[in-house]
Amino acid sequence: MFEVTVEAGFSSGHYLRNYRGKCENPHGHNYKVFITLIGEELDEAGLLLDFKLLKQVMRPVVDYLDHQMINELEPFTTINPSAENLARYFYQETTKQLREMTGGRVKVKDCTLYETDTSFARFYE
Ligand SMILES: [Zn+2]
Repeated sequence: MFEVTVEAGFSSGHYLRNYRGKCENPHGHNYKVFITLIGEELDEAGLLLDFKLLKQVMRPVVDYLDHQMINELEPFTTINPSAENLARYFYQETTKQLREMTGGRVKVKDCTLYETDTSFARFYE
């Protein structure tokens, strides 16, 4: 199996509903997201997926969230924008695009979302 990982960052506001504590009030994070792809076959160039293409896949998701109050964006108007839910969101959005791009040759293995330097959540299926 081959794996490749790409990192991206964004700065956004959020707050947690149904939560007692500091994070129930609006505040911001410099988020970091790591997406790891997995596959058994390389392309003609010997790549699982060009890092450039993976960055392109992540770009619309990052741009959608960057410098926004995440709670005001779908699906986070109803789903809490926790690190866990954001990790799943990146996983689902990038999975959709990769399926079209590679016809199933390359899959998203997992998505890790750092809310701070020392706290992260990971989603995989
Ligand atoms: Zn927070």
